[in-house]
Amino acid sequence: MEILKTELELNNWVKNQHANTTKIGFVPTMGALHEGHIYLVKQSVKQELATIVSIFVNPKQFNNASDLNKYPITIEADIKLLKKSGCNALFIPTIDIIYPSYFLPIKLDLGILDKVLEGPKRPGHFNGVAQVVYRLFKMVNPDKAFFGLKDFQQCKVIKLLASHFFTNIKIELCPTIRHKSGLAMSSRNMRLSDNGKKRASLIYKTLNVIKNLNNAIEPKDAIKYGKHLLAENNIEVEYLELANSKTLDSWIVWQPEKQNILLIAAYIEGVRLIDNIQF
Ligand code: AMP
Repeated sequence: MEILKTELELNNWVKNQHANTTKIGFVPTMGALHEGHIYLVKQSVKQELATIVSIFVNPKQFNNASDLNKYPITIEADIKLLKKSGCNALFIPTIDIIYPSYFLPIKLDLGILDKVLEGPKRPGHFNGVAQVVYRLFKMVNPDKAFFGLKDFQQCKVIKLLASHFFTNIKIELCPTIRHKSGLAMSSRNMRLSDNGKKRASLIYKTLNVIKNLNNAIEPKDAIKYGKHLLAENNIEVEYLELANSKTLDSWIVWQPEKQNILLIAAYIEGVRLIDNIQF
């Protein structure tokens, strides 16, 4: 696996792939890699794409400075995992490469995506995501890019970005990879104690409880019950909502089959976790 640290090294790697007419598969990450990230990498490798992962903790997408400062960095372990996964190249840019002095932010109207769920809770977050992915897509110029549905609203932002600026890049959305307990894998889980991890598994269990009340009782009552279960275990819910998975607007009635999505953000031991379930 090649490790690319400068723009020149990246450009040369990209040129080499194009010269060999090899298609490029790209997995952008913020590092502290786990099996969820590796699943995305393996999807690209399986499709015989020259697979490149980026690790860049993007300050523009953190609306909270302490969250940014506490973001785990485990670069040596990340490199080991990537080497085993069949990844061909790792791009580790510095902030000056991503945001050089001549950097001009793109304008992308996020519409409803900035007004619901994560949007109002993390002002500027999705704009920051759009900026970094725009820069990375421009530099890497992949044929395909892989993202995880764990960050469902982010997937919608990426699709919107691609439809405006990168119609040549295929966006593949991959399922959420979970621990046996049901807890969605996340770099943030590293900050939880064993007890915190155990309690965090109740997030997915509760989403399933609510899902199973589908059409039996009204969504608001099912959600109220879910919130009660979480509160009993000292899990502080920031939001827990039913939405239509196509549009992401909130709903007070169950949606047609396969268009329901329950989305949650919750705090455990001061760590903010998100998850969702579609049905
Ligand atoms: P991050 O490093 O958190 O920015 O995540 C990089 C990519 O990995 C994003 O597309 C995430 O949605 C995806 N990802 C993170 N956790 C998981 C997971 N548990 N399962 C699948 N994909 C994930």
